[in-house]
Amino acid sequence: MSLNEIERRVVQACSDAGRDRSEVSLIAVSKVQPQDRVEAVLEAGHRAFGENRVQEAQGKWPAWKDRFTGTELHLLGPLQSNKVRPALDLFDVIHSVDRLKLGRRIADIASEVGRAPALFVQVNTGDEDQKAGVAVQGVDDLVRDLRALDLTVRGLMCIPPVDQDPAPHFKTLADLAARNGLPDLSMGMSADFETAIALGATHIRVGSAIFGARTTG
Ligand SMILES: *Cc1c(COP(=O)(O)O)cnc(C)c1O
Repeated sequence: MSLNEIERRVVQACSDAGRDRSEVSLIAVSKVQPQDRVEAVLEAGHRAFGENRVQEAQGKWPAWKDRFTGTELHLLGPLQSNKVRPALDLFDVIHSVDRLKLGRRIADIASEVGRAPALFVQVNTGDEDQKAGVAVQGVDDLVRDLRALDLTVRGLMCIPPVDQDPAPHFKTLADLAARNGLPDLSMGMSADFETAIALGATHIRVGSAIFGARTTG
């Protein structure tokens, strides 16, 4: 477990960027990690975690949330409309909203259960066919339409193409957020979180650098 080492690098990147450490949330991405590694990070006092799949998270997080109070769960992977109800049961923040239909479903269930998650709109900055996210040209309209549903859109999220310099993608995301009056940016993973912090990330999603390499997922 290298939580301390990552924390040290986050502090350094914030300092290099002239930013306060408190401006950046470190989300530990625990998908497909062995239980003992996740528990070690919980026991070290870390409380913000990310998962990709609702079903996988349902199998492990209810018990951990009971045991470790103050745990905040972030859904990072694509969300299907038929999984919105269990997702809102478990997750505090959803980073993968990319279509109005999903927003409508979230608004309906949120008003039913009396609790709304914070939302990020995922943007497909690399325009990749296989990747989720709204196209860059669709961001302004989607943010406006989600706000009209009384949903709290906190910011934008992106996953740059694996084979490209992430910096231009992070800049695009920051520009889109600024133009829409959105305060938060969910960007940066194990390989590029320092670049993301330099370009304004408020939420970095770090998995393998904390927990070790994943065998699947
Ligand atoms: C898996 C995943 C991460 C973490 O990736 P690492 O490279 O292990 O840090 C971050 N964001 C999303 C959306 C992911 O699916």
